[in-house]
Amino acid sequence: MSIATIADNVRAGGRLNRAEALDLYLNAPTSLLGALADEARARRHPEGIVTYIIDRNVNYTNVCVARCSFCAFYRPVGSDDGYVLGFEEIFRKIDETIALGGGQLLLQGGHNPDLPLDWYEDLFRAVKQRYPAFRLHALSPPEVIHLSRLSRLEVPQVIDRLVAAGLDSIPGGGAEILVDRVRKILNCYGKATADEWLDVMRHAHGARLRTTATMMYGTIETVEERLEHLFRLRDLQDETGGFTAFIAWSYQPEHTELGGSEATGVEYLRTLAIARLVLDNFDNLQASWVTQGGKVGQLSLAFGANDMGSVMIEENVVRAAGAAYCMDEIEIVRNIENAGFMPKRRNMHYEILGDPVFRERSLPRMLELAVARADGDTSRPPEIVRYAARSAAEKKARLTGH
Ligand code: SF4
Repeated sequence: MSIATIADNVRAGGRLNRAEALDLYLNAPTSLLGALADEARARRHPEGIVTYIIDRNVNYTNVCVARCSFCAFYRPVGSDDGYVLGFEEIFRKIDETIALGGGQLLLQGGHNPDLPLDWYEDLFRAVKQRYPAFRLHALSPPEVIHLSRLSRLEVPQVIDRLVAAGLDSIPGGGAEILVDRVRKILNCYGKATADEWLDVMRHAHGARLRTTATMMYGTIETVEERLEHLFRLRDLQDETGGFTAFIAWSYQPEHTELGGSEATGVEYLRTLAIARLVLDNFDNLQASWVTQGGKVGQLSLAFGANDMGSVMIEENVVRAAGAAYCMDEIEIVRNIENAGFMPKRRNMHYEILGDPVFRERSLPRMLELAVARADGDTSRPPEIVRYAARSAAEKKARLTGH
């Protein structure tokens, strides 16, 4: 089938199969791919609104036993640079988020063997007690699996307990590429196989939680494997309808064990566009300005994205691998309006909350993203001793006091 025929079928509302998607991805001119994705976006969002959320990306610990080869963020157990945030530190971050108009934390972290399930439950309960309306978008599928192994409870039980403690939704992190050949090479097969990742989302959707889905592309996967990832997400979405959004970002190679180079902006835009076309059952696609910068982030709105993601406030993971873009609400809104769209604030469920906050009241400019911890701060949270230590390093630290 020619590219023109596939394009006509897409325009007529036809569903792409794997061979057609591959042909388009490999051979369609970037302008055509963008136009098809933009038309698909406009059919789903004809009102010309581009949304964004004000939330804060908090990484509660960088200690991780998974050791994925593409990750520059984690520190091994016992490392001098390892940290766990205290409950009071997290409350301070929530206070700052609320002051900037935000209503949610995106809470993710390493697989720390010294944080048992009850640490998470106590934290969630404490957050909800202090801030009843504040939302917790927390714990990607590999973290849920880690907690299931640590607690020797099945995944559905872990999800039920987290929901009872205050979990509102699950972020789609840790998906990388949902093909086990790739996951084995990237050393992330052990933290979650492709089926295990999808199963956590299946259970979460069954428990009436909404979740997002992500893809980190640009390591060692083939183009066919990228598409396989998208088709596996499309299949699960057909089954459950529980995904609110899809977010693709390119692998950031600096300071990682895997090394290599970063995919280009054109490759990002082509990947985003093909995702909009394959994921015909996803309402929302986010622009990943955090990895691509504001300018490509803005261009994403012509390649299928209808959402500018988050006013990040804080970011630690991508920054550790060399990307350090920052846009506050004023900057995000400027990018949306100059691209010809109407900016609206939303929550995680993509319900519109209103117009930009900075037009209603004055906000401090945010020209730099915050970090989890100030450099040199090696403090240990006081409540950590309430929870059973599992690692030899943590047991020793408790005996010696550091
Ligand atoms: S990507 Fe996540 S699970 Fe993998 S090493 Fe980094 S922090 Fe750990």
